[in-house]
Amino acid sequence: MRVVLVGPPGAGKGTQAKVVCQRFGVPQLSTGDMLRAAKAAGTLDPQLVAAMSQGALVPDDVVVGLIDRRVDAADCAGGFLLDGFPRTVPQAEALGALLTRRGARLDAVVQLDVPRSLLTERLIHRRADKKTGQIYHLQYNPPPPDAELEHRTDDQPAAVGHRLDTYEAMTAALLPYYQGLGLLRRVDGVGTPDEVTARMLAALA
Ligand code: AMP
Repeated sequence: MRVVLVGPPGAGKGTQAKVVCQRFGVPQLSTGDMLRAAKAAGTLDPQLVAAMSQGALVPDDVVVGLIDRRVDAADCAGGFLLDGFPRTVPQAEALGALLTRRGARLDAVVQLDVPRSLLTERLIHRRADKKTGQIYHLQYNPPPPDAELEHRTDDQPAAVGHRLDTYEAMTAALLPYYQGLGLLRRVDGVGTPDEVTARMLAALA
């Protein structure tokens, strides 16, 4: 199973990706996580660090390079779920080309749909536990008292609007591209995590 999960920041992509990956036994490849890991390790170019904290995209060749290397790992032999990549049509084309070179192709592109007003509210109240990576919402899914909370710099109100604008601009071209290839499946992302998971699994069945 080779699937792309597309959705705006705060749509619950990370949460849904984990469940779907467990169900199908494939790894979740998140370019955002890979970039944050490189940043934490101090190996990410300072210009890219700055782009990320402003909520801007990093150049296509950087993320394509990350994915090109990652899909050759043994754990990707049975497939993978891409989370946060591709975000642009050139990235989608590069993905198609790198899969073709390996005699593989995508099975589906799942679009998680959530209205913008709900996304802003979710992101501004989102916190992650530094130790476990677990994501919480300050009101709807409050963290335990011993959590070491972190508010991602790109979840701050100033960056959130920019990330949502970037997402809308990006999908304006990306979704029609995948629709044209007959790969696009839309899933309603409003509801409890379990409700959304059930819709995701139905879309992938
Ligand atoms: P995410 O966790 O997917 O929201 O990604 C966090 C940040 O990493 C984004 O705001 C971008 O700066 C960068 N990033 C992640 N994936 C990509 C991508 N496919 N193309 C360009 N930039 C990306």
